[in-house]
Amino acid sequence: MRHLIGRFHEIALKGKNRWRFVDQLKRNLRATFADYRLGPMRGEGPRLMVELPEDLSDEVARERASLMFGLQTFSIGRPAARDLDEIKSGVLDAIRGCNAQSFRILTRRADKQFAFNSPEIDRAVGAAVKEATGIKVDLEHPELTIGIEILPTVAFFSIGKYSGPGGLPVGVSGHAVALISGGIDSPVAAYRMMRRGLRLDFVHFHSFPLLSAASREKARDLVAHLTRYQARSNLILVPFAELQRRIVAQMPRPLRVVLYRRFMMRIASALAVESGATALVTGESLGQVASQTLENMTVITQAATLPVFRPLVGMDKNEIVDQARRLGTFETSIIPDQDCCTLFVPAHPETHARREQVEQAESMLEVDAMVADALGRSERVRLSFPRRSR
Ligand code: ATP
Ligand code: MG
Repeated sequence: MRHLIGRFHEIALKGKNRWRFVDQLKRNLRATFADYRLGPMRGEGPRLMVELPEDLSDEVARERASLMFGLQTFSIGRPAARDLDEIKSGVLDAIRGCNAQSFRILTRRADKQFAFNSPEIDRAVGAAVKEATGIKVDLEHPELTIGIEILPTVAFFSIGKYSGPGGLPVGVSGHAVALISGGIDSPVAAYRMMRRGLRLDFVHFHSFPLLSAASREKARDLVAHLTRYQARSNLILVPFAELQRRIVAQMPRPLRVVLYRRFMMRIASALAVESGATALVTGESLGQVASQTLENMTVITQAATLPVFRPLVGMDKNEIVDQARRLGTFETSIIPDQDCCTLFVPAHPETHARREQVEQAESMLEVDAMVADALGRSERVRLSFPRRSR
């Protein structure tokens, strides 16, 4: 019987609330492994032990565990009899074919009655591994760590220790709506907030059929990628073309982008309230483009009825790009598309919008009716991970 041995990230610091974090992580694990029957889970100090079913390969277990926010590191433990020779032969079996250049053994002995102490076990198993494989011992920076644990009735060993994604389990911090364009920034912003424990719904504004459906497809692909971290997502596709037509017909040119954005805030706020979400998330970064000057961001925020989180606000574009590459969204984000906000936008948009100026312009529009109309024509797409069948 193998176990996933997960070590908690910040959860360890959460004092009396800790059980909420552990419970959420357990639920998230069941959802992420929904196509397998995970066995019992139990918390043991700073760790969570999960029994893995036979039909779940180590490879899939590792892939999925690396998506579980709240895990700092994890390994896959295999049982052995509490006998040094059995442990040696189990370890030798399990590392066959492993091509690490260096290793170390790290033993923890929870049962102090065991005949050998931890350093003795380290040395005995280490010598056997070295002799059988020729891999050298490196206590400081080993490529491979072989963990051994001696418990009162059973022993475990694990080959390798893997990095988890850190952060807090999705859901412990609440529920928000992320505005996802098709660009580089917004998926990174969403990822960073999910990693802080927020469960997200996603909203994408598109100008189809005025523009191609490419941005919708991209948003869907990006959300599918992000859904691996929370198992289920709702993506709301909101048609924006009609509303833009009105803005173009009636509003001063330089204000268009700010007005588009204010409508996005209103519509996203309404969607959030409807689904019980209590914040919005965007990929804005201070000064990156004309709509992201301090003045414009302020005026845009004033149209929202909920707090707006902008986790990238202090990041440079190249830092965001690096993170998008690591996250695996970059390649999708750079597929050419036609973003709705580039529609009818002047070469020199307003960079210092003022509240009174914007509100005065908007007083010529039927704002509530425009919002209600877009909401009424929005579509909901449900995405899940793992996909239904395997
Ligand atoms: P991104 O790479 O995320 O598109 P960007 O640098 O292109 O960002 P903007 O186009 O100004 O910046 O958009 C700023 C933020 O506004 C985006 O990060 C996103 O959160 C939101 N946003 C912009 N366009 C859309 C859209 N079509 N649908 C949903 N949200 C959008
Ligand atoms: Mg964009």
